[in-house]
Amino acid sequence: MRDSYAAGGSGADDIKVAPQGSAAKGFPRPVILIGPPGAGKGTQAKTVAARYGVPHLSTGDMFRDHFGRGTELGVRAKAFMDRGELVPDEIVVAMIEQRIAAPDCAHGFILDGFPRTVAQAEALDRMLGRAGRSEPLVVHVKLDSSLILRRLTGRRMCKVGGEIYNIYDRPPKTPNRCDHDGGELAQRDDDREEVIRERLAAYEEHTQPVVAYYRQRGLVQDLDGSGAPEAVTRALFELIDREEGRGRHL
Ligand code: AMP
Repeated sequence: MRDSYAAGGSGADDIKVAPQGSAAKGFPRPVILIGPPGAGKGTQAKTVAARYGVPHLSTGDMFRDHFGRGTELGVRAKAFMDRGELVPDEIVVAMIEQRIAAPDCAHGFILDGFPRTVAQAEALDRMLGRAGRSEPLVVHVKLDSSLILRRLTGRRMCKVGGEIYNIYDRPPKTPNRCDHDGGELAQRDDDREEVIRERLAAYEEHTQPVVAYYRQRGLVQDLDGSGAPEAVTRALFELIDREEGRGRHL
């Protein structure tokens, strides 16, 4: 599977958001997408990556990729993921620290699924501070709780390229096949109802406080994630265009 780079697809292709002008050169403030499971973070992060030419860093995708390759890290993470629990902070932090030090992150990146605890957010602050980078732009994607189950139980992912579909709201043209590469679509192991409940509980307990942590510093912008993906994408691009360039150095 992908290393979470802008591989096009899911939404990006549908709404034709080719990199354009200065938008293609990245942005100074790292963007963090934060929101409950099923808010559409992965789909939206891909469109941002494609439009602004920055890497999409999804810690969930990184773990799934590790597991697919049979690494020790992947096997360790999978045990937590299958229970709907968070992977321990030190594992996630080490993985992301290494990733954002890579040259392709120099002109910005979008984080999807990280930070998920206040300890991770504090670690990220230290990393950004050490690297002399701007404060993050935190986009809090809000979703009506009645939509969360529909989004998660309907979600299907291409086994080849990781494209995201929804059998109710964004079905593939051919049942169970990816529109882009014909790969087989599968349900994520953790998109089962009993695991979903655990993931939502983990969000309430550990990740809501992260929103509060950033909000008190004035870094949070709220985004309504309940509309059609294309409408959410448009609002997200407007928000990023408006807010980027205002960051102070930590
Ligand atoms: P996601 O693909 O973002 O929904 O993540 C799937 C699962 O990976 C989560 O339910 C966690 O078990 C694990 N995971 C992903 N990101 C993190 C993180 N930042 N901290 C801890 N666990 C994570």
